[in-house]
Amino acid sequence: MTDFGFKLSKSATLDLDKADTGLYERLCSLEPDARICMNCGSCSATCTAAPFSGMSLRKVILGLQRGQDVRPMLQGCMLCGKCSMVCPRGINTRHLLLTLCRIYD
Ligand code: SF4
Ligand code: SF4
Repeated sequence: MTDFGFKLSKSATLDLDKADTGLYERLCSLEPDARICMNCGSCSATCTAAPFSGMSLRKVILGLQRGQDVRPMLQGCMLCGKCSMVCPRGINTRHLLLTLCRIYD
């Protein structure tokens, strides 16, 4: 094959129609507040575990909406509840995270 000095990468486009959002829907049925998250990132910005574990509640919720496996990120959460104090939507994020952990158990 001719080397043109560059290569084509696989598309990173997500086909949301094919995403398995079953887990997200289950979370929303138990924690309806999950639907009002606007992915602002305030929770992630104040997360105690973020600098050490890469935990990001914003990415967790976004990942669930995209049908991705967020379990590895979830393991970094210490359930300290700091994020619930800054959420502009008033979501009880700690409870939401606890419910999500229980779903995965
Ligand atoms: S409860 Fe979890 S996500 Fe929220 S601030 Fe604490 S470690 Fe971060
Ligand atoms: S702070 Fe609240 S609204 Fe913003 S991303 Fe986190 S959970 Fe969603």
